This record gives sequence, C-alpha cells and structure tokens, in this order.
Amino acid sequence: MSDQYPIAPHGGSLVNLLVGGPDADALREEAANLPKVVVNERELADLEMLANGALSPLTGFIGEGDYHSILDTMHLENGLAWAIPVVLSVTDGDVKRAGGAHALALLTSEGADPIAVLRISGIFKRDKTKEARSVYRTADEAHPGVKAVYEAGDLCAAGRLDVLRLPEHDDFVNYRLTPAQTRAEFERRGWRTVVGFQTRNPIHRAHEYIQKCALEIVDGLLVHPLVGATKSDDVPPDVRMRCYEALFEGYYPKDRAMVGVFPAAMRYAGPREAIWHAIARKNYGCTHFIVGRDHAGVGTYYGTYDAQAIFDEFEPNELGITPLRFEHSFWCNACEGMASPKTCPHGEATRVSLSGTKVREMLRNGERPPQEFSRPEVADILIDALRGGGA
Ligand SMILES: [Zn+2]
Repeated sequence: MSDQYPIAPHGGSLVNLLVGGPDADALREEAANLPKVVVNERELADLEMLANGALSPLTGFIGEGDYHSILDTMHLENGLAWAIPVVLSVTDGDVKRAGGAHALALLTSEGADPIAVLRISGIFKRDKTKEARSVYRTADEAHPGVKAVYEAGDLCAAGRLDVLRLPEHDDFVNYRLTPAQTRAEFERRGWRTVVGFQTRNPIHRAHEYIQKCALEIVDGLLVHPLVGATKSDDVPPDVRMRCYEALFEGYYPKDRAMVGVFPAAMRYAGPREAIWHAIARKNYGCTHFIVGRDHAGVGTYYGTYDAQAIFDEFEPNELGITPLRFEHSFWCNACEGMASPKTCPHGEATRVSLSGTKVREMLRNGERPPQEFSRPEVADILIDALRGGGA
C-alpha cells in the first residue's frame, strides 16, 4: 500500500536492491571471490539511494545508452524523465584487475567487507566534457560538480546491483528514513499531499515562510536536508540539523511537519539537479516539491530562476510531482509580515534583506541578525558553531 501512497514512485514501483536472508549469505560468499573496487563517497551516496529506492526506477549504475540519452535528452532510453547520470566511475587499472569478470564486489574502503555486488552489463568511456556541458552547463573546472567529474576515473562500470547492506552512518540515525519509511509515515499520518523541501543550508525566516506557504495548500511538509558531501564552505550538516530541530521545536506543528535526511551528495548542477531532486522526493512519497531561487546552484553559473524554468521542458505529467515555484522572500516593515516581490508593493527601503556575506559576518561577531531575518534560536546555534571553530 505505502508503495503507491500517496503517489506512485517514478516508473511505477519502489525499487529495493537489498538482499536478505539465506540469499545474503550466498551473495557474501560470492563477493569474497570477486575483483574488488572501492566506491568513492559521492558514488556511495548514490549506491545507498539506488539500494533504498530513492532513485527508482534505476536498479544499478546506468549504462552507456542511458548515459548519452540523459545527457542529450534528459530522459532514459525507455523515455522516462531523468536529469542526471548515476554512474560508477572506474579506472583503467580497475578494469585490468577485473580481467573480464562478470561481476565486481564494491567496497566502502580498502580491505572492508563488500557492501554490494555489481553485475556488469558494460564498461564505457565517460565523455567528461559532454557531461560537464550538458549537466552543469559549463566545462569550467572551478565548478565543484565539474571538478568531481574530471577527477573521477575515465571509465564507467554499469550494471544491476545486489546490495548486502546500506552504508553505515553514526549520525542522524533517527532521521535516516528510507522512501519506504517516509511513505509509511505519510500514510500513518493520513497525508494525501506532501510537499518536500530540499536544503543544504540553515533555515532562515525566508525558507520558513515558503515552506509554510506551501504547507497551507497541502496536508504535510517533509523538510529533507541533504547530508551527503557538500562544498567545504557550506554549513556542516550537524549544525544545520540542530537549527532544524530548534525551529521545529518552536515554530512547526508536529502533526503537519517532519524532518528526514536525504543521503545524496550535492552536485551543484542547478536546474538539472532540481529535476533530479524532485524525482527522488517523489520516490520518498512527496506530491509537491519546492523550487526556490537558484536551486542547487553555485556561484553565478545559473540564472536565478533557471531551476524553475527547466520544469517547463517536460510534459505536464512526465515528472508526476508538482513543482511549487517561489521567489525570494523577506520581512517587509510596511506589510508587517513576510512577503515576496509577488505580494509586496513596497520598495527595498522597507524590506529587511541581508546578503549571505553580511549574515556570516554578523554571526561570526556573535551578533544575531534581526529576528525578522533569522529566528533567535537558529541564530544562536550558528553563532555558537562559527565561534566554536566548528565551521
Ligand atoms: Zn511590503
């Protein structure tokens, strides 16, 4: 039941690649004798999401046909919308060591027990320049996503995965809900419509406002912070999580809002990543998805609303999940409330707006930004983290 509630997963059914019971023992034995490849942190995050169905309908790392189809058309070869290739990069050395094997054992680190077995369906050359230009809209190696592509191996190993266990985490254990678990929870709460909010930043009043605007028209809110690899200058996930907890404690209705974590690594691919984030949230059971300004962007690579406009490149029912597009919002002294350029007729002079640089400077000096900008509870956590050397 939960599998289809409140919205069907992308492609129709929720994938689960975990092998259990007696089959797991046989798989473990098989893996012990296979050539081994260590998976990097980013690809391990993808493996976790493949395993738990967050990337349904994918059942493993994609092959060359899907790879080029995604880059060229934002669709899999079977015609299903898909914006970002999910590949396992390997080096020439890995392939030589594998020596024509039909399967590989994947490890989280050298010498570790295998976490999964990849049934190799093909090995292909990664077209890094093409991938950078189509996914990231730039070949500039200063872009963190492009840099990761260029640093990866030149080849990709494709195939179905049989997964022995999910990667182990010692943080946010209470928040690591799989798509099957969030779906079951939505069903238990009777939410028929749920809006998902992707974030890799602390939540200030502007984010709170758009979440609550969205919540006014649906049954429930899933705040879904990304906790995989990010840039080193982003606020660390444990600090962000303390902010969400404080905010939920003081300002969110518990029967209408919940937090789970999204294990993905950030790609900073802007528009294409917004599509990918939306599809993954559909798999977690969200019916709606908030797309703000410069979603998943970095630097000045993308236009402010490019990540909203890209949703128009798909047929209305192709993605299934409904994007909710928001402009930047602020407190307006004349409106006496949160507003956006869409709802407030007043000019800059009455609006409380601060640049990210200014906010960081205030926090670093132990100064709370105005409460119209940040909840004091959130400001204090950030001040503490910045001054404690934690960030
Ligand atoms: Zn106003």
